[in-house]
Amino acid sequence: MSVRERSIRAQFRVVYASKRRLKPPPLLASNMAMSLPRATLPDDAAGSPAMTAAGTGDAAIVDIQRFSLHDGPGIRTTIFLKGCALRCAWCQNPESLRIKPEMAFYSERCRNTMRCAAVCPEDAIVGEADHRIDFSKCTACGLCAEACDHDAIRLIGMPLVEETLVAEILKDRDFFIDSGGGVTLSGGEPMMQAAYLQRLLPRLKAHDLHIAMQTGGLFNWTHMEPLLPYLNLIYFDLKHMDSEAHKRLTGAGNEQILENFSRIVKSGVRVEARMPVVPGLNDDAENIRATARFLESQGHTALHCLAYHNLGEAKIPRIAPILAPLGMPSLDLSALHDMAHRFKEEGIDVIICD
Ligand code: SF4
Ligand code: SF4
Repeated sequence: MSVRERSIRAQFRVVYASKRRLKPPPLLASNMAMSLPRATLPDDAAGSPAMTAAGTGDAAIVDIQRFSLHDGPGIRTTIFLKGCALRCAWCQNPESLRIKPEMAFYSERCRNTMRCAAVCPEDAIVGEADHRIDFSKCTACGLCAEACDHDAIRLIGMPLVEETLVAEILKDRDFFIDSGGGVTLSGGEPMMQAAYLQRLLPRLKAHDLHIAMQTGGLFNWTHMEPLLPYLNLIYFDLKHMDSEAHKRLTGAGNEQILENFSRIVKSGVRVEARMPVVPGLNDDAENIRATARFLESQGHTALHCLAYHNLGEAKIPRIAPILAPLGMPSLDLSALHDMAHRFKEEGIDVIICD
């Protein structure tokens, strides 16, 4: 392991998010639709060269979360891979969206020692007392993060070869076996790094690990097919049944996503549908009904409902501009129970994920 990789690895933190519980104000879907910035797809979206290239490089990893209890059965290690083809307006992990490594600046930790500016080869640290990174100059070399004594700058997207990642995961193999757990691939969108997964998954399976994936569903099917024999469980997000609304909220229509869901169902790999519930954006009666009918058509009678949390908004100013904050409070538990009741009336059992 290189000195640089060791340094970057030291920056990883197990994140236990403190979730604020605030009751959302009543929001009208029509008002929200008018005020929402229209999401646009990035250059590295599905179908672009970045998605179709075979790729032999290391994966960019945002985080490795050990002892995770909410990303599948048992005790799990969740791997957050960098890059996503969608730009959901409510994204809680904006630092995962770009596929390339990038820098994050935590101004609240900065003590103005300016060690970062002294080492930056691009003169990308600008300003005096209130300095910041000029992202138009920054090449994400990571030197400033290494120089900073106060953990005020981090490189997001640690490059990791499969061997290193497998070794990290295997540290908890005994816990996986005892608890019926395993590994969960998350993101971002794990399928953005499908070529890496094609090399990683056989190595994990050789150790008889249970492998789950969380996906937003926008990927080329030819990338998923070779992974299916190694996957035990796929959590598949269904965000909106109306393709126009889906495009407005995430940057892409839902046709390919729904087709991919059907293909996974037909493949026989276990797939569980999930819906991030965002007040005023996808919790209307029409979308609930359409989602229920789609699930029914796929032979599914259950849906995980995930509460919208606004945790991602604090992260947006730390990185190069990528998303506009929604400015909404998090969804509270009672609203999620209400969704469960409404889905039940449509014949769908909801698993509440707060
Ligand atoms: S080295 Fe760190 S603490 Fe010092 S000025 Fe730069 S960012 Fe701030
Ligand atoms: S990561 Fe960016 S800001 Fe930091 S030293 Fe490298 S070029 Fe400069």
